[in-house]
Amino acid sequence: MSGPSAPRARRALDEIPVYRPGKAALTEDHKLSSNENPYPPLRGVMERASAELGRINRYPDAGMTALYDALSKRLGLPPDHFAAGTGSVAVLFALLNAHLETGDEIVYAWRSFEAYPIAADLTGATTVRVPLRSDATHDLPAMAAAVTDRTKVVLVCTPNNPTGTVVSAVDLHAFLATVPSHVLVVVDEAYVEFVRDPAAASGLAALADHPNVVVLRTFSKAYGLAGLRVGYAIARPETAASIRKATPPFSVTDLSQAAAVASLEAEEALQARVEAIVQERLSMVAALRGQGWDVPDTEANFVWLPLGDDALDFAVACDPVSVRPFAGDGVRISVGAPEVNAELIALAGAWRRTHRA
Ligand SMILES: *Cc1c(COP(=O)(O)O)cnc(C)c1O
Repeated sequence: MSGPSAPRARRALDEIPVYRPGKAALTEDHKLSSNENPYPPLRGVMERASAELGRINRYPDAGMTALYDALSKRLGLPPDHFAAGTGSVAVLFALLNAHLETGDEIVYAWRSFEAYPIAADLTGATTVRVPLRSDATHDLPAMAAAVTDRTKVVLVCTPNNPTGTVVSAVDLHAFLATVPSHVLVVVDEAYVEFVRDPAAASGLAALADHPNVVVLRTFSKAYGLAGLRVGYAIARPETAASIRKATPPFSVTDLSQAAAVASLEAEEALQARVEAIVQERLSMVAALRGQGWDVPDTEANFVWLPLGDDALDFAVACDPVSVRPFAGDGVRISVGAPEVNAELIALAGAWRRTHRA
């Protein structure tokens, strides 16, 4: 090789894809590709956030005192059980950085959340992916069997992005009884507010019995604050402290903290919206199943169509509605505003008539 040498990033980055933004939708309402909340922010939440604009010359409260106090009050755990960051994805990055290094192993289901491979690969640890079962649920017995002496972390996504399926309380309990107590079990509950299945697992209940559990939650989905970037972990104080240490200081702005606290106070209004989204989800699933689609049971704000090799073609056929295809696997469709959901259902019906007749 000739020429001057150039700086080179760590090898772990070679496998990580560069982020490519999805195709722009016709209108924001037509964007059913990011599991966003279709409702505009509550006026009271906007007012509390706007009030912070007058003091953006100041650094935010790095201790996130008001946010931790509000979470403490809401969830009934001391403030030292929380660690917040710029979205629960950032919290996951900090958590994995704090707990994994080269030579360690991390186990997660696949297909699951697209951010997992990135967060895991950046640490240099080795990934063990356990395929979902045929009903698109986590195969927890197989995941337990995949745990070795080197395993430090297991990720459990419930409801699972992108399939919407939940892990049952019984299955999670059995899993936690098998996994050694030094293995961190991360229960990613980004969509927990949309769960209506009484048999579904609760990360908080699991944490009460197993201190090696970490629960991840976010204000991005049910609370409708995706643009402000606030998520948090609930964990035993030692684990929460390790996440806080690995998180860049001052990352969550006071504007975001204020909006998050205001959202916790406006829970009733937000829950009404969540319930409306759940009702829309139920009618979307019923309509799609009525067209003959094999839709897994979803407890999230999205539905999964297992289209296999047709995933990309279907996504193109959904134009002008933007959906999220995963090549060779399926398509994830967020529950949006009722008119757009109706548009999508009509497109899905037309597709079935021409492709599966
Ligand atoms: C959306 C999502 C998150 C949270 O995203 P943030 O906006 O970073 O809080 C976490 N996990 C899963 C599985 C998600 O789908």
